[in-house]
Amino acid sequence: MRRRTLTTALALALPTAVFGTPALAKSPSGSGTPAAPAAANWSADRTRALRAALPDLRGRRTAAGARVAAQLDEERRVDAIGLGRAIDGSQYSCAPTELSAYVRQQTKGWTDEDFEILDQLAVLDWPTYQALLFEPSGSQYYGRSGEYTKELEKTFGKLQGFWDLDGSDIHLAAMHGAVIQDDAKMVATLTFAFEISAAEAQEIVDAVQEYLHQPKFDDGRNPLFTFNAFAYSDRTAGPGEGLGVPDKIIMGDGILEGMAAIGLGDVAPRGILAHEYGHQLQYRLGLFDDHARTPEATRETELEADALAGYYLSHPRGERLRTKRVEAFIRVDHEVGDCSFTSNGHHGTPDQRAATGRWADGLANEKGAKGHILPARTVSDAFRAALPAIVAPTN
Ligand SMILES: [Zn+2]
Repeated sequence: MRRRTLTTALALALPTAVFGTPALAKSPSGSGTPAAPAAANWSADRTRALRAALPDLRGRRTAAGARVAAQLDEERRVDAIGLGRAIDGSQYSCAPTELSAYVRQQTKGWTDEDFEILDQLAVLDWPTYQALLFEPSGSQYYGRSGEYTKELEKTFGKLQGFWDLDGSDIHLAAMHGAVIQDDAKMVATLTFAFEISAAEAQEIVDAVQEYLHQPKFDDGRNPLFTFNAFAYSDRTAGPGEGLGVPDKIIMGDGILEGMAAIGLGDVAPRGILAHEYGHQLQYRLGLFDDHARTPEATRETELEADALAGYYLSHPRGERLRTKRVEAFIRVDHEVGDCSFTSNGHHGTPDQRAATGRWADGLANEKGAKGHILPARTVSDAFRAALPAIVAPTN
């Protein structure tokens, strides 16, 4: 299988040298630009024609692209919420929750053809791939207009100081849907993730950009294009299999917007970051090394990341947040706890997640602890000992 190096991808990222025209020469947004009227009249036939003309990228991932995709499957809030299942309403086996209602609201007007073409080209992965491979490139802003920058940068520094393990080599990066409108960044991303030439990538990017001018997609700024947060490390990669990128935490605009929309804006930015930081602690402790990728193993590592996050959020020397808010957040994060018990991405039911939050709060505020911070390894060991009781059936 053809392999690309990061150097190749970075060379492709050089804007004008490769494609002649600077990305900025393109109209930056659909609304009020000449492209808008045509996009507003976009027909179903046009989508069908586009689907037929464009390749199916799902089976053409590079080794690096496949590695990222496998990990995304485990940490994918979009799937947990059922976006991938939206075509078949009968598969909403779990009670609808506020966050899934929010997702349905954002996909209002998306047709079966829309879901299919986005799936065929893996468009919902593009911003994640881009952030993972190339960000942070320079200073970052978090949230569509930078509304979370201050809070997340502060929390990130606090997390690094709170835990006993060295996290100074972790990079924090933003993920914005608007990046899909950037030719150079998208061509570099697509040629890295898929077995396609730069010319073919440019054609696909042009077509998708035009398609996303439709108001319902908001040029990729619709929250569902960045409805994710993600921790990545090369530490579990076999020899020669790593991406060659430093340890990263990616924070998508969309998931932050969704959480704010359902009333968890006070705790979610810090909570999601603390959860992803928990995954970086797990990498450092080697807890993914013999990870079986079974539903049980994924549930264990996901609930454990919640436990590590909850410990930090509740702790007097962490965020010192009110227990009920921490519990509410943990219950909703990943949401739906997906209830598909056979899926590898199973994150635990909402009840199990809430119980994890209570457990972490109890440990963080234990009598006699006097604000002492336990090592991450100790919190992990204690959580694993408590896990059977946390996941025991409640009825
Ligand atoms: Zn997770």
